Amino acid sequence: MASESTLLILGASGDLTKRLLLPGLGSLITGGDEADLRLLDGLTILGSARSERARDDWQGEIREAFEGVGAKGDLARALIEGADYVAADPTEPDGLKRLLDAAKGDLVVYFALPPAVITKVADVLADVDLPERTVLAIEKPFGGDAESAAALNEQLRRIVPEDRIHRVDHFLNHRAALGMLATRFNNRILERAWNADDVERVEIVYDETLGLEGRASYYDTAGALRDMLQSHLLQVLAIAATEAPVSLDATNLRDALATALRATRVWPHGKVFPNTDQPSRRARYTAGTVGDKQLPDYVDEEGVDPDRGTETLAEIALEVNTARWAGVPFVLRSGKAIGNPRDEIALTFRPLRFVPGGQTGEGRRERVVLGFKPPRIEVAFTSGGGDMPFELEAATLEGTLPKSPVTEYGEVLRGVLGDDPTLSVRGDVAEQCWRIVQPILDAWQRGEVPLDEYPAGSAGPDSWQS
Ligand code: NDP
Repeated sequence: MASESTLLILGASGDLTKRLLLPGLGSLITGGDEADLRLLDGLTILGSARSERARDDWQGEIREAFEGVGAKGDLARALIEGADYVAADPTEPDGLKRLLDAAKGDLVVYFALPPAVITKVADVLADVDLPERTVLAIEKPFGGDAESAAALNEQLRRIVPEDRIHRVDHFLNHRAALGMLATRFNNRILERAWNADDVERVEIVYDETLGLEGRASYYDTAGALRDMLQSHLLQVLAIAATEAPVSLDATNLRDALATALRATRVWPHGKVFPNTDQPSRRARYTAGTVGDKQLPDYVDEEGVDPDRGTETLAEIALEVNTARWAGVPFVLRSGKAIGNPRDEIALTFRPLRFVPGGQTGEGRRERVVLGFKPPRIEVAFTSGGGDMPFELEAATLEGTLPKSPVTEYGEVLRGVLGDDPTLSVRGDVAEQCWRIVQPILDAWQRGEVPLDEYPAGSAGPDSWQS
């Protein structure tokens, strides 16, 4: 008989639950292996939020999410029919007690809650008895600076030990990031060239066409740097920069990623961006058209306070100060409302020291690119083969990484339900990520970096184009 367990989702009426968590769970049914199916066997999906909701309605939402990813059959039916919903305020001891009373067996508490609420719930959780094997899954943003992240870490460790705290960053579960990890360390050509002797610059870019999409209450207090770079793109940097872990288990991989981030600092060696001596740039969009969508000025979007000066595009330069990487800029960039967006990890290689006859193939640097959407790998290089003897051409080898039927949030839930923290963020790493970006946030606060503008649908501010 399957052992009983409960996935308690706090914030079950929210966007994350509907759009990412429930389809992720369904994708584990569609694409998971035997071990994944065992995790789901005997699981109760217990949803909760303060707002009242009928159990049928909650089950209907799960059914719809499962159908969206093609999850059907006995297991899907059992999960839907066994799902329960309890309206409660988890920041109140009584409310939390009612939720815990409704849970059976091993417990996973998924905090799909606004960050300020997470802290309050953690306070209450510290004073109640929990099942012995309780796992906590915490959504980003994890704290608002190194100090608050450290305080939240301390709070959570009073509830369960560190290895049962899953700080979720789904970019760690992204095919492109995992593909880079696998490709780097299983490829003699790449691994030997993956260092400052051969690589001139690393770019980690995640631009998107989407604008604010009605998320002002969260995004306007965060901005691109906090929302994307401080969390997701720094995790990708860690994967790009890490030394080979001894093995890919939770201890060794997370130790290796933490070491790379501890060595990371704001670029200290002068100019990286052509239009400024600063190691960062920021901008926000003005009215424009992205695809067939007309966007207003960011500051005219509902819920935006122009005085906050929130950026919708951020670009920063960092150095990973290790024997492998010292002297190579790692440029992290993410923007909203960008026409023809790039989303990739790109390594540009240094020019050769010597080319016969002095023919340098100028402008044709070798590049290795791992793309996020769709997950892909490209190797761009100079080759012979033009019409004339010795004529050079730009060539590209491209491959698409196989699409996994398990979504990134399916992978997140696999780790959480299986209590395997390998691909979740460790507490010290969450603090390091704030430590890394703090000097940039401070420089922006002091007004040392102008807030530029770009029309929605463009590639960014004109002055940034080199
Ligand atoms: P929403 O605002 O859509 O939902 C928030 C949920 O929390 C609702 O269910 C709400 O229900 C509940 N809630 C709000 N206030 C309280 C409170 N005081 N006490 C108890 N429950 C409360 O947020 P999202 O779903 O978008 O985000 C949830 C978390 O996930 C956030 O930390 C966010 O940063 C993170 N995240 C979200 C992503 C997304 O794409 N949406 C992506 C990555 C991370 P009710 O008011 O009825 O209690």
